[in-house]
Amino acid sequence: MGRKGLAMATTPANDQLTPAGNLGPATALVCRECGARRDLGPHYACEECFGPLEIDYAFGDLTRADIEAGPQNIWRYKGLLPVPANVADTPNTEPGLTRLVRADNLAEALGLQRLWVKDDSGNPTHSFKDRVVAVALAAARELGFKVLACPSTGNLANAVAAAAARAGIRSAVFVPSNLEQQKIITTAVYGGTFVTVDGNYDDVNRLASEIAGEQEDWAFVNVNVRPYYAEGSKTLGYEIAEQLGWRLPDQIVVPVASGSQLTKIDKAFQEFIKLGLVEDKPYRVFGAQAAGCGPVAAAFKGGHDVVRPVKPDTIAKSLAIGNPADGPYVLDVTRRTGGAVEDVTDEQVVEGIRLLARTEGIFGETAGGVTVSVLRKLIESGQIDPSAETVIINSGDGLKTLDAVAPVVAPSANIKPTLDAFRAANLA
Ligand SMILES: *Cc1c(COP(=O)(O)O)cnc(C)c1O
Ligand SMILES: [Zn+2]
Repeated sequence: MGRKGLAMATTPANDQLTPAGNLGPATALVCRECGARRDLGPHYACEECFGPLEIDYAFGDLTRADIEAGPQNIWRYKGLLPVPANVADTPNTEPGLTRLVRADNLAEALGLQRLWVKDDSGNPTHSFKDRVVAVALAAARELGFKVLACPSTGNLANAVAAAAARAGIRSAVFVPSNLEQQKIITTAVYGGTFVTVDGNYDDVNRLASEIAGEQEDWAFVNVNVRPYYAEGSKTLGYEIAEQLGWRLPDQIVVPVASGSQLTKIDKAFQEFIKLGLVEDKPYRVFGAQAAGCGPVAAAFKGGHDVVRPVKPDTIAKSLAIGNPADGPYVLDVTRRTGGAVEDVTDEQVVEGIRLLARTEGIFGETAGGVTVSVLRKLIESGQIDPSAETVIINSGDGLKTLDAVAPVVAPSANIKPTLDAFRAANLA
């Protein structure tokens, strides 16, 4: 017998639109550029202008108590996501509700008064990508897809392969062949179809779009299911607000690859305000990139509305998207909220990883190093207010990017197993 089908529906994915009732509070897809609406379904681009589609909702009444009574994972927010009401009953990786760490030591090192680290390395495959994949998988089932697929810079590959394994469906994952060895192994271990491609992420992404055009029942989570996938990042924003005691921070620094995470954290804050779940107050959103792949930072600093694609060259491979789909929307959010987009060198990325580890005992991956060092740069340039409450995101686990720090960290000494040897080493 073949693998269990992904879908309840028996109709081919593109032939029939899904009844909205199966996707919880989601009501339609809306073009972010021209506002054209279309029915919910396996669509990602506007028919009028090819702009990206976004989910529209009709939210029911939702109280803090309702959410607090929910599961200890992202499904406590299912009433705000394009997923069926019974989503938590289907096998899934149950990501989310990662810790929000009060980072007093790092704050002191940087001259900040109140700083928190949202540590998303605590997710099932150790990055924030488990959130978006869980939502994409739930929607893909409803939309009739059979295979869970993605082009990835690494973490998404881990998350898709694991989520598909847990759901008992087939995965098909495509990554650049120069990916970190750790991320290759931590994807391959879950089984599924796993292809390394001789090219950079933007090449892999283009290939995935072409394959998606031929394989109609393959859900490329971040391509043809992207409107649903992207909503998963809202849960980061919801959790930060809930974990702060149902209020918003003053400032937040978010790593930027495609830019989806940053824009959806802002969307989450806006939704919580509209639903009356938090008090309306100003907050500023900052984006963090590596200088070796900083097209959004360059556009922000140059005062441009258009993001000019770059060829990535950085150790922060999880952020190495040279042509970021949501780049213009990152510019919108950061400018609207009075934030900024900054970038830091690879050397500063490594310093950022080490600073977070030494001060807070949190080993972040290169994306975390980018975020910590961008925070420092924004403080030094006066763009971040040191007296205002700040949250930064550590979006992945340092064990997945060991090569970044391997050359610069080592044991204090290597000694023979004798007390004399210990004394001689002057370590006391
Ligand atoms: C994918 C990723 C991001 C950013 O994601 P976008 O939504 O594409 O901007 C940040 N950090 C890590 C570790 C990632 O894997
Ligand atoms: Zn449009």
